[in-house]
Amino acid sequence: MFNLRNSLLLRTQAFIDGEWCNADTHKTFAVKNPATGEIITQVADLGVTETRRAIVVAARTQQVWAQKTAKERSQLLRAWFDLVMQHQDDLAQILTIEQGKPLAEARGEIAYGASYIEWFSEEAKRIYGDVIAPPSVDQRILVIKQPVGVVATITPWNFPCAMLARKIAPALAAGCAVVAKPAAETPLSALALAFLAQQAGIPGGVINIVTGADSAAIGSELTGNPLVRKLSFTGSTAVGKQLIQQCAPDVKRITLELGGNAPFIVFDDADLDAAVAGAMVSKFRNAGQTCVCANRFYIHRSVYAQFSEKLIAAMNLLSVGNGMGEGVSVGPLISLAAVKKVQVLVDDALARGAHIAYQATLDLTEAAQGNFYPPTLLLNVSPDSALTRQEIFGPVAGLIAFDTDQQVIAFANDSEFGLAAYCYTQNAKRIKHLSEVLEAGMLGINTGIISNEMAPFGGIKQSGWGREGSLYGIDDYVSVKYLCERF
Ligand code: NAP
Repeated sequence: MFNLRNSLLLRTQAFIDGEWCNADTHKTFAVKNPATGEIITQVADLGVTETRRAIVVAARTQQVWAQKTAKERSQLLRAWFDLVMQHQDDLAQILTIEQGKPLAEARGEIAYGASYIEWFSEEAKRIYGDVIAPPSVDQRILVIKQPVGVVATITPWNFPCAMLARKIAPALAAGCAVVAKPAAETPLSALALAFLAQQAGIPGGVINIVTGADSAAIGSELTGNPLVRKLSFTGSTAVGKQLIQQCAPDVKRITLELGGNAPFIVFDDADLDAAVAGAMVSKFRNAGQTCVCANRFYIHRSVYAQFSEKLIAAMNLLSVGNGMGEGVSVGPLISLAAVKKVQVLVDDALARGAHIAYQATLDLTEAAQGNFYPPTLLLNVSPDSALTRQEIFGPVAGLIAFDTDQQVIAFANDSEFGLAAYCYTQNAKRIKHLSEVLEAGMLGINTGIISNEMAPFGGIKQSGWGREGSLYGIDDYVSVKYLCERF
């Protein structure tokens, strides 16, 4: 199944205190290839006891790690980044086989994830404090920033490399140690990253990877153990809300990157070819399984027909299949349950008056084995359908016509989510207005791709708290301490 240049990257044991280990019970769980349904391998199935051990290790190691100079931490992170990029092809292969996305996209995710390690290797040296004007001349006010301590991370399967890298890298840069729980669907990418961190010389115990199928049990230890000072979670809003409650007794700090429901608005003055290109990348990347995917398309009535024709032409060029296959642009969904969920949303939209304007044909043999859903375009979608209210997480685009700016702004903001939004228009005055009134943490203006390590990624409303990446990304991993000196 694998053709790795460095077969050591394929790890099946958890990683605690710099050691590769089995579960105390010797239990394992199966990791499956979503494109074929085949079992890739068995991975150590840890529980509460091993998680607690990892937390104790991290608490001890963090004290030592925080004593390293910023430059030492920076150099180790840089060495890790270099190794990740040197192993980009192998890591991409592991990612595609466990997650499903096309190999070219997986290579992109490895580079994207690595860019956070590179960025925070640089930011490690720029964690500045302040000197503030005091209220009297015999005083001095200093502000220093200190690592929050042990950080627990819980990450999803849709970006198994990048979501982990953009949490671990700022944590390490700030002087924190990490206990990470990757999604049970995709633990192999996390373990490969940990292996390269070890090779880069990052001391044992600074990064600990707890693999396990019982996420609720591991999660309750990560949130309930007082040695953990912060949780950084990326995943669904429902689980995020539960974790907030679990962190409340200790008043743990939390960063939450939760669900989205991005509106994609095309105005009458838009460059329609650019809008279609943006829609394709925003909607169909990762088979529609990204938190910033365009989820609701609002198209001005005067360009609705033209936009949908162009979109159908572009969708016709998509090639669905096993992500390891040549020229494949849309892989499988993560599970059969995900396929069924998408179908429920489509059926609801159809029942409320939508119709299918385009649906790709699937290779039946492959579809029978893997979790594929055909790229689909729905027209005349009702604004009240579940398709526009919930995250689709599949390759389905639903178009809604609008007539006025005021109407579309109301449509766009009518959601409990506020992660990403996209708009296509040439009108500078309208861009300024949209920038101010659209309720989202991130706004793509004439672009469908918004995320990079230099920009602050995150949402408002029920899409989360905190920002990842950028100069703001370190803030979530440091505490501000104010020193009042009197002379
Ligand atoms: P999920 O069910 O919330 O799972 C995310 C992670 O939480 C996984 O590691 C999962 O482990 C773990 N988990 C589940 N239940 C838990 C519990 N009770 N206690 C502790 N951990 C628990 O989300 P998903 O469906 O896998 O991921 C997709 C979601 O992530 C979407 O909503 C998407 O929008 C969001 N997302 C957001 C961002 C962002 O930056 N805002 C980025 C990517 C994805 P197991 O899988 O092992 O159960």
